[in-house]
Amino acid sequence: DNPIRIGILGYGNLGRGTVKAVKQSSDMEIVAVFTRRDPADLELEDASIPALHIDEITDYQDKIDVMILCGGSATDLPDQGPAYAQLFTTVDSYDTHAKIPDYFEAVDAAAKEGGNTSIIAVGWDPGLFSINRLVSESIIPNGETYTFWGKGLSQGHSDAVRRVEGVKAGVQYTIPSEDAMDRVRSGENPTLETAEKHRRVCYIVPETGYDEAKIEHTIKTMPNYFADFDTDVHFITEEQLAKEHAKAPHGGFVIRSGQTGEDNNQLIEFSLKLDSNPEFTSSVLVAYARAAYRLNQAGTTGAKTVFDIAPGLLSPRPASDLRRDLL
Ligand code: NDP
Repeated sequence: DNPIRIGILGYGNLGRGTVKAVKQSSDMEIVAVFTRRDPADLELEDASIPALHIDEITDYQDKIDVMILCGGSATDLPDQGPAYAQLFTTVDSYDTHAKIPDYFEAVDAAAKEGGNTSIIAVGWDPGLFSINRLVSESIIPNGETYTFWGKGLSQGHSDAVRRVEGVKAGVQYTIPSEDAMDRVRSGENPTLETAEKHRRVCYIVPETGYDEAKIEHTIKTMPNYFADFDTDVHFITEEQLAKEHAKAPHGGFVIRSGQTGEDNNQLIEFSLKLDSNPEFTSSVLVAYARAAYRLNQAGTTGAKTVFDIAPGLLSPRPASDLRRDLL
């Protein structure tokens, strides 16, 4: 069989992760990476992959089977999602949960017009976590679902601590509260606010001679970001920051706890522990690119979400192998 021909639009963290993920997929090949910037500035690790300006993308409609959209959810995908769904079969990792219904409608109309298939909001949350929320709720209707995030580096909260006076550099991790997780796992079905489910840990490099107690107080009392949370602040050196906090870890837990029959407690738990959030998210995108390609080949068009995709479509292996080895 001919390899599935992949295009990558946008070369940030997900773009780089997608190159790595396609390389681990023997049924796929990368045709080109497209960018809005000067392609010469991209510094692709693999010089054999063409880096092209986005203006050339329309010339590739017949040369690319699936375009993996690696733009940001805030400002790139709201435009790029519908625009490129009209030209290509696509997958994307749109993660603005509240706006997914509107985004779906816009991409759906464009994909149908172009005869393409577009799987939106792919990744881990939304994505694999969403599937686990749906499956567990369907199986245990009498229960509660809990999502905990972390341990994860939070970009927004890291930016917030870096803006505090006296802070030279720093990072913030969101960590699930062990107490809250234990209560959920015990079958208690507690009502928990976000602040009760998570704690926050900051690693701060202070400006030389700056009062650490003052920095700690400012962070811990910051409204919205930290005031409602159990927050720890640790002071470290620039060397420690570079050595110990350079990765972008993330992950979390989806737990559903409930009862079947009269009094039997049942617990479903799914968790992820990721060294690199973008590399993992890209790997999910690439598996769903395979599904998008197959659906399109079979004549299905329009927007889809992870809820619509049969698991077998994600695998490069024939269905008969999957039945033999994995059922
Ligand atoms: P980046 O900010 O790294 O990249 C987004 C876009 O910005 C790129 O496509 C690129 O477009 C442009 N860009 C990247 N680097 C530069 C630079 N140095 N200078 C100028 N422009 C640049 O975002 P990520 O790849 O980290 O994440 C993309 C989205 O993925 C996030 O917005 C998030 O919503 C989503 N996501 C979803 C997850 C899920 O589970 N569903 C998990 C993780 C992320 P261009 O090349 O055209 O300039």
